[in-house]
Amino acid sequence: MISEWISKASQLKDPLVEVADKVENLPAKINWLLLGCALQQGINLAELQSFLIELQKEIGDVAELPAPAENVILSAISKCKLNDWSLAPQTAGIIWSVGRFVRVRKNRLELWAASHSPSDIWRECSEIFYMGKSSALRPKILNFLHRLVSFSPMGAGALPPLPASAGARRWLIQTKAYNSEESPKEKLKTVNSLYKELFPKKPALACHALQFFAEPVNENSHFCQRIYPCNLCPVAEYCRWSK
Ligand code: SF4
Repeated sequence: MISEWISKASQLKDPLVEVADKVENLPAKINWLLLGCALQQGINLAELQSFLIELQKEIGDVAELPAPAENVILSAISKCKLNDWSLAPQTAGIIWSVGRFVRVRKNRLELWAASHSPSDIWRECSEIFYMGKSSALRPKILNFLHRLVSFSPMGAGALPPLPASAGARRWLIQTKAYNSEESPKEKLKTVNSLYKELFPKKPALACHALQFFAEPVNENSHFCQRIYPCNLCPVAEYCRWSK
């Protein structure tokens, strides 16, 4: 039952990959993906997706010069009703920092990715403002690396652990497997064991799918309702959001 839900939920498109894929050329897609991952903090997936879509109306490529004006960014924040978002005051700085990071790599992140190992990419991305200095695990970069495979190969080397998500945390809480006392490192280990347990053949699919578990699209709906109505959902017994 659970594996059936995971197989179906894993077919939902990652909202940040979907937005990045809207632009035409590959380097710009990766730039948008990197920006989306750098901004994924204190915001749900649907809000972040609509904010990126709003930005794309004004900005073709995150790395182009002149860098986007602060008032353009603030106006997109305001249009998306994100004024209370904890990262709103830093958003312009993050966008500019991603742009600089990309320009230093000659605006060809696909070439840079293909010639760098995942651990080198993980280390270099921490240069970006708000992308990992406060956490040794750099969860935003883990997200970037695992999403990057949709667009570009990377140099040789093992990928780091799969990232956690709000949906995976909700799952752990609902199944009473969440332990708030664990350190961030232990939590990451727990969530990776969960992915393995739920879908041993391909834990990355469980990781992808669980980000949609009871993840709000708006006040009245969740991403997971796109695959099953709640009354037919095979994981409803774990879900207190069931309608
Ligand atoms: S019961 Fe409804 S809200 Fe809960 S996981 Fe299933 S589809 Fe999503």
